[in-house]
Amino acid sequence: MTKLEITSTKRLAPFTFQWPAAVEEFEQGWECDVTIDGAPHVVKHGLGQRVVYGRPRVHTVTWLDAKVQVEGVEADDYPTSQALLSRVRRPDGKLVGWFDEVQRGYEGFLIVRHRSEIDAPHSPNCLAVKVREDDLASWAGHAWLRSCLKKVPSSPGVAVHRRPVPPRPPAPTPSLDGHAVVRALLAHGDALATQLAPSGAQFTPDPSANQLLVKNPFAFLLAVISDMGIKAERAWALPFELRRRLGYLDPARVAANSEEVYRAVQSTPTLHRFINLIPKWIVEAARIVEEEYGGDAGSIWRDGPTAKELRRRLERFPGIAQKKAAMAVEILERDLHVTVSDLDGGDVAFDVHLRRVFLRTGLAQHDDVREMVAVARKFHPERPGALDLPAWDIGRRWCRPRDPDCQLCPLTVVCPRLIERGSTVQGI
Ligand code: SF4
Repeated sequence: MTKLEITSTKRLAPFTFQWPAAVEEFEQGWECDVTIDGAPHVVKHGLGQRVVYGRPRVHTVTWLDAKVQVEGVEADDYPTSQALLSRVRRPDGKLVGWFDEVQRGYEGFLIVRHRSEIDAPHSPNCLAVKVREDDLASWAGHAWLRSCLKKVPSSPGVAVHRRPVPPRPPAPTPSLDGHAVVRALLAHGDALATQLAPSGAQFTPDPSANQLLVKNPFAFLLAVISDMGIKAERAWALPFELRRRLGYLDPARVAANSEEVYRAVQSTPTLHRFINLIPKWIVEAARIVEEEYGGDAGSIWRDGPTAKELRRRLERFPGIAQKKAAMAVEILERDLHVTVSDLDGGDVAFDVHLRRVFLRTGLAQHDDVREMVAVARKFHPERPGALDLPAWDIGRRWCRPRDPDCQLCPLTVVCPRLIERGSTVQGI
């Protein structure tokens, strides 16, 4: 195994680089002295911006001994991960499509499918490493591995004997083991928590919209109500945009100005797909907060209710049923640090992504809310709701309705992959 060590690092002032057809500007960068298997090298890593995959994205270039080796492009979740993707190549220069083809040496890297992490036209269906923009050791390692690859076909005097590689037998499909699946789900939940810990709760890519949700309980309530039929990020940004359009977001004024609320939601670009239902629910929610909670939405949970009681209170609001109430209880306790007791009374949210994962992993036999809630309670009785976020995330990123990416899924070694069972899941 190659040993790579960074011995010194210095920050660079903004600089430019002359490509054959253009000059690229880098706002910042680093230069490192590294030793690779004892030999000294210099690695330079620059951060700039380019229009790639349909919009301006952070773009990096990494040089090894003054030669460009690898480039990185901002992933879709960059606002929360600060991570970029860099394609993995084969010795013939073609993009790597399958794990079997990944060069040795990438064992410690996070390998992802490019199109899953950059969902945009022309995003290739190949594998890529996903690396934080400032993880210099990983960029140096990636650049080194790429440089080794380039040497293979042209190394003078080196005879490269290629034996035909027999096709690898398909990975054995694990048998059904609910406890193993739940352990893997909880481990993925822990990994997500660690990933998000430095930046706090990330509901949308916009930090100002996130701040409003954290600081303003009524905004949080409206986001929960709006979270249906559209991407979660858009739904959770709705209160921020609604406040911008209205100029206020206090329950009393929202309740008293229903026409303004309808107009704010419906004017182009509309704030939601359901342009009649959502403003109606927002006005009704404001009225309930005014009449039953003295205009303070935080009173819904400030007295430290049990998970069951809090679910009951939330389900009193229009547009909130089992799924959203269970999700909100988890988020309030886990991300907003609200005191909620008896979390064994919490539940998973009956959401399309979770349903697909529960069915395909064999945790549930039927697409039925009572069965899934019971399964979560059976396998993780101390906190059933803890299965909610990891299952939702896996359903969204890997266990897609069509073409699930089992090879890269965090559940791959424990999941019996009952693909067909989850393909019938419908809903929003
Ligand atoms: S993507 Fe594959 S391995 Fe992952 S949960 Fe779905 S079926 Fe199982």
